[in-house]
Amino acid sequence: MPELPEVEAAARTLSRAALGKTITVVRAIHPALKRKLPPARARAAKGKRISTIERRGKHQLLGLDSGDTLVVHFRMNGDWEIGTTSDILDKFTRAVIELDDGTRISLVDRRALSSITLDKEGSSSLPKLGKEASDPALDADYLAEVLQRRKIPIKPALMDQAVLAGLGNIYAAEALWEAELDPRKRAASLSRGKLEKLLTAIRLVLSPRRRRPGRYTDTRGRERFMVYDREGKECRRCGGTIERIVQAGRSTYFCPDCQIG
Ligand SMILES: [Zn+2]
Repeated sequence: MPELPEVEAAARTLSRAALGKTITVVRAIHPALKRKLPPARARAAKGKRISTIERRGKHQLLGLDSGDTLVVHFRMNGDWEIGTTSDILDKFTRAVIELDDGTRISLVDRRALSSITLDKEGSSSLPKLGKEASDPALDADYLAEVLQRRKIPIKPALMDQAVLAGLGNIYAAEALWEAELDPRKRAASLSRGKLEKLLTAIRLVLSPRRRRPGRYTDTRGRERFMVYDREGKECRRCGGTIERIVQAGRSTYFCPDCQIG
């Protein structure tokens, strides 16, 4: 499931393939995506140059020289596939962006839950988003302020895009494990010291170089999570047993023995 680091990487891939080029075709193929980007609306992007590509939370924003913005969200499984207009379309291609140099960018998504929309200049379909989880200027004051009225536990609060933009189920669980915090703890009850610890943990898990030697990779170099998807397994810090609970309809993995803060 793409969260901030994966969407950031996708936006960079997209930039390398598309920035500065002119769109010849934007087309939603799957009916679910077509509802948000009908052909008549998609035509507004034709002949427009892609002048900026940015990530905001888990959204990718393609700024056009007309002032309009193409907004893409991968949801659960979306990804870019870069090819040319002469390639055969992958059967899971849900939308395409074709460029004047013959590049074709396919939005592939087995489950077709991704979305692509075109926001006209001056309008935005983005939901309310909090500060970026990767923002270097993010501090405990901000977290304290956005969490102070939250009567919900800290784990779903961290996943709320209006609190912090970019965190999802995986990185929220990993950050709470790093900070040794109980995911069931009420968001508003965390002390300043714990918020500081949580911030450090968020930065660590989002960092591309988060993998301290021997911690995040196994002997074959495969990436492994410290807590996510490890129900019943041994905690890598204390040897306790990782548990899975359901919070706000999503699985939360945590160690009840050392995540006690
Ligand atoms: Zn533990």
